[in-house]
Amino acid sequence: MNFSKHTTNKKLRSLNSNHKKVTTLIGTSFVRILVFAVVLVAVGGIAAGIGIANAIFDSAPEVDFESMIPEGYTSFIKDQNGNVLRELSIGDANRIYVEIDQIPQHVQDAFIVIEDERFYEHNGIDMRGIFRAIFVNFQSGDLSEGASTLTQQVIKNNVLSTEKSFERKIQEQYLAVQAEKALEKDEILELYLNTAALGRGTHGVQAAATRYFSKDVSELTVAEAAVIASITQRPTYYDPVINPENNRERQLIILQYLYNAEKITREELTYAVAEDVYGHIQVVNQEFEANSDYTYFVDEAIRRVRDDLKTKGYLANQATNLIYRGGLSIYITQDLEMQAVLDNAFANEDNFPTFEDDYNAYLQYSMSVSKNDGSIEHYYKDVVLPSDEDVEQEMANLKAEWVQEGETILSENHFVIPQPQAAMVVMDYYTGHVKAMVSGRGDKIGNNIFDRATQAKRQPGSTFKVLAAYLPAIDTMGFTLGDVYDDVPYTIDVPGSGPYTPNNWYNTKTSAYNFWGLSTIREGIQWSMNLLAIKTIADIGIDTGFDYLKRLGFTTLIEKEERNGQIFTDKVISLPLGGVTDGVTLIELTAAYGAIANGGVYTEPIFYTKVLNHDGSILLLKEPESHTVMKETTSFLLTNAMEDVVRSGTATPAKFDGMHIAGKTGTTSDSKDLAFIGYTPYYIAGIWMGHDQPEKMKHDKSYHKILWGNVMSELHVDLEDREFPMPEGIVRVSICTESGLRPVEGLCDNDPRGSTIRSEYFVQGTQPKDSCDVHISATVCETSGFFPTEFCPEEVLVDKVFIARREPLIPENWDPEDPPRIKDYEFEIPASMEGEFCPIHGHEELAPPIQLDEFGNPIIEEPTEGDPLSPEPIVELD
Ligand SMILES: [Zn+2]
Ligand SMILES: [Zn+2]
Repeated sequence: MNFSKHTTNKKLRSLNSNHKKVTTLIGTSFVRILVFAVVLVAVGGIAAGIGIANAIFDSAPEVDFESMIPEGYTSFIKDQNGNVLRELSIGDANRIYVEIDQIPQHVQDAFIVIEDERFYEHNGIDMRGIFRAIFVNFQSGDLSEGASTLTQQVIKNNVLSTEKSFERKIQEQYLAVQAEKALEKDEILELYLNTAALGRGTHGVQAAATRYFSKDVSELTVAEAAVIASITQRPTYYDPVINPENNRERQLIILQYLYNAEKITREELTYAVAEDVYGHIQVVNQEFEANSDYTYFVDEAIRRVRDDLKTKGYLANQATNLIYRGGLSIYITQDLEMQAVLDNAFANEDNFPTFEDDYNAYLQYSMSVSKNDGSIEHYYKDVVLPSDEDVEQEMANLKAEWVQEGETILSENHFVIPQPQAAMVVMDYYTGHVKAMVSGRGDKIGNNIFDRATQAKRQPGSTFKVLAAYLPAIDTMGFTLGDVYDDVPYTIDVPGSGPYTPNNWYNTKTSAYNFWGLSTIREGIQWSMNLLAIKTIADIGIDTGFDYLKRLGFTTLIEKEERNGQIFTDKVISLPLGGVTDGVTLIELTAAYGAIANGGVYTEPIFYTKVLNHDGSILLLKEPESHTVMKETTSFLLTNAMEDVVRSGTATPAKFDGMHIAGKTGTTSDSKDLAFIGYTPYYIAGIWMGHDQPEKMKHDKSYHKILWGNVMSELHVDLEDREFPMPEGIVRVSICTESGLRPVEGLCDNDPRGSTIRSEYFVQGTQPKDSCDVHISATVCETSGFFPTEFCPEEVLVDKVFIARREPLIPENWDPEDPPRIKDYEFEIPASMEGEFCPIHGHEELAPPIQLDEFGNPIIEEPTEGDPLSPEPIVELD
């Protein structure tokens, strides 16, 4: 097909003569006007006049029906320097268009009986079909489905947009009548049989015959023709590879229709019903997938070119023709050397959980066998097995079952897809260029398969803590990395959904502490602390967090949506923990962090930069969409905090020498998805690991971080280490990490755990001015560790530093069976004075020597009430 500017101009010119044709049409056929009026009334429910119909006809595009026959030039994938990386073709590009006399009669008939039984009688629209459809769709008043003649479908496939509007339907009918005037029935049928969408990216019967049966269309049997004709209305539902049962139902209907219409004999019907076509389809499918060698990257680049062509108004069929037969040059952003590093790392089994840790294998095995009785049998089986040895054994067993003595194997294919799976994408966050991508390990089966890096929607987990909570808090709400939240038992009452009690990842039965007490936002990022993120978003508002995510380029988040009567939304308090309705893609997650890496400017990830036509003119120019999401200072602070994640936090396995690295881990609470997004001053890379069918990971959850580090260290081997750039307006001041305020000498530096004074970065003006109010000093008896009484000797009295929370803990509310184990609780000043005084020193004459119990602790006798000698407490607090 010719999409050159010249043709467009020609089309535009002829559009002007449109009106005259309409007049002629209306003048010659009163009946036809009546028909359109009836349709308008029936569907729209309003009385529409000829004027409206006229306007709709006028806006219909003028069509050069002769130009629909596609041209045949090989297209090329090229790198940024114009070197050809590979050729694109579906079969033999030049011969895939077949003329009507090359298409067997039973193939033509199979489509006609199911799609348009009065094809040879009507003039483009089928009134009986329309009235039947109106009747069938009466309740919904929807005429957009069904009742389409083959002629209308030719218009739909080649001319009009796919939107289902009433106007488009009327235009389609009008143009169908025009097409019938311009072309012979056979020419229309030929166009239809060459352009109909037949699943798996195929358009036309020749492509489908090759894809499903590995033969020329002229060789298709009646049974095979019926399989292909079944696909057209719902290509996925009737996909004979993945939904053979659905396809079989429709295939039988077509065979029955063919017999009823006396297109085939009773013997042919019986033979066709008995033919084993679906086994053959599986075998051919495996052969096709084994022979397809487009990389994940090229697949994605083609998908994006196709999508962008559609955005520019091309139909799916036109876009596919153009890509594979238009002689295009597609310039992709891939760096082959970087790609090789990723490919090698993913091919190395040492980078993945071992068999003992976490492994199983998904086997797909197929075979065609020439049997001893002269028939040909096709076999296929897929099964999940615990080890590679089991795979070998299963294949041997199946082979023994399928092939008997003296029989010949005609073809044999197998794939092994190991689990857990992984995907990784490397991007230049300045330009948006995706440099390398691997979307799986083990066999890549087929072209344009479901992509784990760009299409799979998985849970982002803790990676959302930074994006949904801390980023917006710092960027708009004046939060700082030094702000302190208390990681203690916490329940928040959420309007509309009731109380919510978040849990920490370290809240396990065996952990020493299940709450870490007073912590800064920096520590919250470093250690991926759930409660800090939840408390932050509770303070800034869920809407604020959600809005930032949208601006960071996520397209799969749900604001509010009804599905099967249930309302879904991702605007929930737990949003920072990254459990969202549909999940997010790895590429979008990586690009979102790219905005932080890139000084706050989001840059859309792109896979190609331009597409040139056969004649060298520009068809598509890809400029990545780019916009500022956050202040440069915000991005600096977050990057600086995320350096701690890699240096000493949750991502230390990803660390490699000689480069500044920042990043954030993402683990879902159920451990079904593991992610790490990390970046250097040069590149950003995201990695995901998980099972294709989500299940809890059994391994220790560090493989993906190590793999990330291995790949990135190799990609940076010749690059000079440098710091992440610090923008203007950043100051560095000392704070106390218990209060987030200015440290007090003698207190904050004397915390019993060691000094809590740290140097922290602030946006000028947000640094604290007040002094620490959490640390306090009190005099205690060194012997007992409690407050002294009048009997404690002077020499054992010492000043000790405690923390005193602004919001005191309330141990009375704790479950006495399972009290929270709070890390800093022992450094808290005793909540209750009573009973916390030194019980060791007393009146010498009356106090017996201290007895020790079996653990070496003093055995204390309670003083009797009213005892005149019971010690009087003295308390000094600073
Ligand atoms: Zn302090
Ligand atoms: Zn004492």
